Amino acid sequence: MELRKMTMSDVKEYLENFDTVIIPIGATEEHSAALPLGTDTIAAEKMAIETGRRTSRIVAPVISVGNCHSVTFAFPGTMSLSPHTLTLVIEDYLKSLYKHGFRKFLFVNGHGGNVAPIRCAIDEVAPIFKNSRFAVGSWWRFPELAKLYDNAGHAGRGEVSMMLYLAPELVKSENFTEEKIKYPGYFVSEDLVFDEITKTGIIADNQKGSAELGRELFEKSVEVYVKMVKMLERN
Ligand SMILES: [Zn+2]
Repeated sequence: MELRKMTMSDVKEYLENFDTVIIPIGATEEHSAALPLGTDTIAAEKMAIETGRRTSRIVAPVISVGNCHSVTFAFPGTMSLSPHTLTLVIEDYLKSLYKHGFRKFLFVNGHGGNVAPIRCAIDEVAPIFKNSRFAVGSWWRFPELAKLYDNAGHAGRGEVSMMLYLAPELVKSENFTEEKIKYPGYFVSEDLVFDEITKTGIIADNQKGSAELGRELFEKSVEVYVKMVKMLERN
């Protein structure tokens, strides 16, 4: 159930039985010349909506601009909310939902630069909110997916596959590249400034993906998110 498609009486009725809300958060940032700027947002929103469908839980409107300040900001089209601004946006999302009675919050995150702001926002509200629980999942980090692919990096095999499955009409496959750029092992991803190490906007082994792999990654991710809803709601 998508909050934006419900009426206030639908929400009131829901809150008589449940207090869980799923919040998708992505980014609008370069994903090479082959994938759309909305890659992270599209993946997060579709995973959240499918998780909401399978659990009959409410999905809040997607936060579609993320924190790209230190990584991909130099590439054409990338938009960014500063870490501070994004933290405040997330805090206000949480406070709005809390005000009406939501107490369990699941973030379905599609973008690495959002991890710290989400954590900061939760840390700000957690001492104030009563009887509340929070969970954050970033699909590419799920150990459950490790067997399917080797975390193929930014705009790499994982994201290519995800887009071939979720939004094939937006993939420009003629622009796939085999350029081999790997994450240097001694950085965490948020420390990288991409334009200093790649001209293509790709940090990955290659872009060899498939819709079938995308389907598997999506399915497994949604299964994990469904499990997270159950964990949030355990007694
Ligand atoms: Zn991405």
